[in-house]
Amino acid sequence: MPGFEFFGDEERKEVNDVLETGILMRYGFDGPRKGIWKSKELEAAVCTTFGCEYAQLTSSGTAALTTAMAALGVGAGDEVIMPAFTFVASFEAILSMGAIPVLVDIDESLTLAPAAVKAAITPKTKCVMPVHMCGSMADMDALKAICAEHQLILLEDACQSIGGTYKGQALGTIGDAGTFSFDFVKTITCGEGGVIMTNNKEVYIKSDAFTDHGHDHLGVDRGADLHPFLGYNFRISELHAAVGLAQIRKLNTFLELQKRNNLILRSYLEQVPGIHFRVVPDPAGDSFSFLTWFLPTQAQTEKAIAAFKEAGILAGNFYWFANNWHYIRKWDHLKTAKSLYALNEAQQNALTALQTTQFEKSDAIMSKCISTAISLTWSEAQVHEKGAKFLAVLQASLS
Ligand SMILES: *Cc1c(COP(=O)(O)O)cnc(C)c1O
Repeated sequence: MPGFEFFGDEERKEVNDVLETGILMRYGFDGPRKGIWKSKELEAAVCTTFGCEYAQLTSSGTAALTTAMAALGVGAGDEVIMPAFTFVASFEAILSMGAIPVLVDIDESLTLAPAAVKAAITPKTKCVMPVHMCGSMADMDALKAICAEHQLILLEDACQSIGGTYKGQALGTIGDAGTFSFDFVKTITCGEGGVIMTNNKEVYIKSDAFTDHGHDHLGVDRGADLHPFLGYNFRISELHAAVGLAQIRKLNTFLELQKRNNLILRSYLEQVPGIHFRVVPDPAGDSFSFLTWFLPTQAQTEKAIAAFKEAGILAGNFYWFANNWHYIRKWDHLKTAKSLYALNEAQQNALTALQTTQFEKSDAIMSKCISTAISLTWSEAQVHEKGAKFLAVLQASLS
């Protein structure tokens, strides 16, 4: 999965271009930067690689989500429907806008269950935020139809699914806007970074200004820029963008290796009786960064995890149900609204209500689910070896 596994001379060369001029900022300093504009170059590469009109880099994926919501006009009192299985950044970004996170069940795609989204819509709903978890996608046709029917914004969090597609379109480019994260463990890394992608010029212009204190970026003199609205500092630095530029050129290699290694490993797990795999709404569009599989019962899944640990092969296998970062079950800080600053009353009430909200459908799925992260560095022989080991340990643990 992670591009950091292939950090090399290409990344060093791009970073050195920036170090030679010493202009580490993405805006201004036109003379001394000697034509080096890594952030602009990376934004252009994102547009051509993923097929969107506009791309705005940010300092993180969380900043990208926050900016996208601001640009789409999501704010105080608005409800945003998000999945109960995701990364904490989803509700962090929503809360930071003053908006209300409405958590709903996932299905065996490990992403938003369209029926659960429908059931959660109220007059306050403004936005639906599918999260394309673990390399694969949500049922975008169903979600698009719901959003169209109820006139809701569709914002895709594709932070974990760089390179995945749905019916030929890159994940993150299908909704009103979409985001990637380029943090250190994502498919492409900048060290830290993120991007908002959109085909809507207005959303792009707003994102461009919002990430830089509201600067309109219309003149050549930064000091004379106007500020049509309030902004923030979510800028990426040229050093980070330089790393991403080298990484995006390697994306096809990453995706080929992920697919090869994923399918080899899968061929072994397929031999385990009772095992089945995650539902992928468009199988051709899987980015293959994870292989996600289910055992028949929670007890068997817990036993398998213990057996993997015992055999020394647990690393890279995620039992999200017991994980502190990705599933509602362990988000105590959210459910008890432990905020350093005052949340608004509607937010406070929504979070407190989570303490007694049941997510039975998600629990039933997540308690039997294991995701295996696919490394780029495994040789074919090593994946076969790994697969054989997984198979032997699972067969022993299930018997
Ligand atoms: C990584 C991630 C983010 C946030 O990205 P950062 O760059 O770490 O802020 C958001 N959503 C999901 C699903 C992620 O995996």
